[in-house]
Amino acid sequence: MATLFVVATPIGNLSDLSERAKATLGSVHMVLCEDTRVTGKLLHHFGIKTPMMSYHQHSGDDKTKKVLDLLEQGHDLALVTDAGTPGISDPGGKLVETVVKRFEKSDDKISQVRKVVVMPIPGPSAAIAALSICGFPTDEFLFLGFPPNKKGRQTYFDRLATIESTVVIYESTHRIFKSLEEINKRTPQRDLVVCRELTKLHETIYRGTAAEVTEALTSTSIKGEFVIVLAPVLSSRATNGSRGISS
Ligand code: SAM
Repeated sequence: MATLFVVATPIGNLSDLSERAKATLGSVHMVLCEDTRVTGKLLHHFGIKTPMMSYHQHSGDDKTKKVLDLLEQGHDLALVTDAGTPGISDPGGKLVETVVKRFEKSDDKISQVRKVVVMPIPGPSAAIAALSICGFPTDEFLFLGFPPNKKGRQTYFDRLATIESTVVIYESTHRIFKSLEEINKRTPQRDLVVCRELTKLHETIYRGTAAEVTEALTSTSIKGEFVIVLAPVLSSRATNGSRGISS
């Protein structure tokens, strides 16, 4: 039986790679990764010498076939992305779907002889890290990934404004101000937690409305990666206490 391990890797701080992830990356036949240079550094840091193969959203059917063949031959593989949990606004979901369809659900002869399982090795994810410190109710939340750049952008923010529960979205340095502006236009009173560079040297947490966070970001460096958490509609403004910047 072969296993496709879906391995979460650090979102900044290398100490966040779990012992189980290390052992898995060190023992599989091959590590499938988005960018061999990025994952190469991670493996090198931990003295792991497992061969790598690039596998990302642009990988064609040939690559997928190669992966399926390796699994069918009984080789364990690990799937990682540049940072965080594969499949979460990252490549991986498609491969997992293909493997599940091909091996776990199929009832053909080969699948029965050489069953392949998909196993998570859980760990860091920026969305979950941000939710864990947001201070908003998280018994229910919605993850909406990145706002689209062009087509569908207005619809995305219109929809965001109508969601009453806690919402988590991703944003890059280049568009953080634009996204905060879209939120401010629609829900100026809604409280946000904006997490910059989580687990890294310049980790900063901004709490306030979109306008307040924009002001705080204007006076500091906005380099880095961001997660925006929007409070549930009912707990925004007037009902909440302190806000500001912490690091
Ligand atoms: N799969 C990853 C995960 O599980 O978090 C997310 C990958 S997605 C391509 C990259 C985005 O995640 C960044 O643009 C940013 O929005 C968010 N992100 C990743 N690392 C982060 C960090 N250290 N601090 C804040 N946001 C981060």
